Amino acid sequence: MVIKGKKIKKTLRIYPVYHLPCLTVRLLSLGTFLQQGLCIYGNTTRISLLANSKIEVLQCIPHKQGDTIYCLHGTSACLQSIHSVFIEDYKTMHRRLGHLSKDILSHSRDKTMGFPKGISFPKADPICPGCAKGKMPSKSFPTSESCATKPFKKIHSDLKSFSVVSYHKHKYYSALKNQSSVLNFLIVLAIPHEPERVRTCN
Ligand SMILES: [Zn+2]
Repeated sequence: MVIKGKKIKKTLRIYPVYHLPCLTVRLLSLGTFLQQGLCIYGNTTRISLLANSKIEVLQCIPHKQGDTIYCLHGTSACLQSIHSVFIEDYKTMHRRLGHLSKDILSHSRDKTMGFPKGISFPKADPICPGCAKGKMPSKSFPTSESCATKPFKKIHSDLKSFSVVSYHKHKYYSALKNQSSVLNFLIVLAIPHEPERVRTCN
């Protein structure tokens, strides 16, 4: 944009952006900008959108001289400039890194390269809708009318963890239930994936 005769480059985040099929240009809605709190000033040479009634954030100029269509000239932001638009916070990093716990996230901050600086970690664990949904129990399976006719024809299994590691360093157990009888098996494991051990026990 041109301010007091000087060309100035600014990086902006425009939100929301809708997709219009077959449209080759991007349409901007003045009404949306006004609803978001920007003010408008315009004359024949330009339409300016102002934040706090004084800071010019957008400048549209006529498409051609004397044209009534005003255009905003800009390019898509590159990765470096995006850093100046988004301010990473704890919530953003938690969501973007696959909903990591606060402990692991703090280790990532100390042990990884390029982790954003200046992120403050909240003292209490903030409620995250994604994490809450992920921990919700799924809907129960419908009851089955059929039953295995022979032992070991159908086995139900589940892997669970002990709240405390055992004397022999077992932290997990695999519960196996034989459907055709009342026999259940429990195999203790040191690591969650010891399939060979489970298979041998079978
Ligand atoms: Zn989460």
